[in-house]
Amino acid sequence: MARLGSWIEPFSEGIYIRPADAWIDPSQPKPRALVTHGHGDHARGGHGAVWATAETLAIMDCRYGPQPGKPVAYGEVMRLGDVDISFVPAGHVLGSAQIVLEHGGERIVVSGDYKRRPDPTCAPFEPVPCEIFITEATFGLPVFRHPATAEEIDRLLQRLHDNPERCILVGAYALGKAQRLIVEMRCRGHHDPIYIHGALERLCELYARFGVALGELRPATGATKEELKGKIVLAPPGCLNDRWSRRLPDPITAMASGWMRVRQRARQRLVELPLIVSDHADWDELTRTIAELAPREVWITHGREEALKHWCMTRQIKARELNLVGFEDEDD
Ligand SMILES: [Zn+2]
Ligand SMILES: [Zn+2]
Repeated sequence: MARLGSWIEPFSEGIYIRPADAWIDPSQPKPRALVTHGHGDHARGGHGAVWATAETLAIMDCRYGPQPGKPVAYGEVMRLGDVDISFVPAGHVLGSAQIVLEHGGERIVVSGDYKRRPDPTCAPFEPVPCEIFITEATFGLPVFRHPATAEEIDRLLQRLHDNPERCILVGAYALGKAQRLIVEMRCRGHHDPIYIHGALERLCELYARFGVALGELRPATGATKEELKGKIVLAPPGCLNDRWSRRLPDPITAMASGWMRVRQRARQRLVELPLIVSDHADWDELTRTIAELAPREVWITHGREEALKHWCMTRQIKARELNLVGFEDEDD
């Protein structure tokens, strides 16, 4: 009998599904690509055909121009070659999906990036039991335990309240993190206009188009210092300490990322107010998910593989590390 999962092959540039002749999240242009979500380390331009959720395709159109897209609804089963394929919510960002592959009586689930905690901007992760679970491990170390999101948002809003003469400049990635922060703030009762850097505008519009209510957003560029006092300003992390931020009234620099758990990373970016808000599963979510899915094998991509591999082995789950390239650019 063939080895479990012998019909899919991990290459450094992505996962190849032989009986479907298709790639998952390939980092090189391929004739047929299945894309889990719109982050730049998973979704790239230049493929011959792209299967993804309508949201992911819209994000790719927005970033790379029109795509040869084949929209797939969550839960819809399609057949490529000899493989049944479906996209299931991953709870990571708008449109993010796990990809479920069935062939020869085996089910393989490719998680893409995922998280388990609630996110008001996307559909929640749906567990699919499988023989092989191919999981991300961005925060695959026991030290990574993300605090409750509401606590972090409350710290942010408290700091704003305590400093009415200043503004808080929050670094957040343009896809997913920025919109989630906005909605989380709305959920915690903050209904003032939120000012955004121009680089966030198109994706915020896209989220709104897909029904995610962001409340009143205003362009930060052009606003006076007086107007920005006591306000939240969102910008991509790269703009935190550059010239752009000098126009702001004595900003308190914040950054929202799972990496803010690591003090040194916060210091490197001169972040005064680190907010641990992550779109990835933390250690507990990773291990709880594996326990819940009860796969026979776990293949680990994309992050700190070693500790999770060890965790699996001690529970008699076969585990292997896949060395894919090109991950972790804008992901946190
Ligand atoms: Zn991602
Ligand atoms: Zn990623």
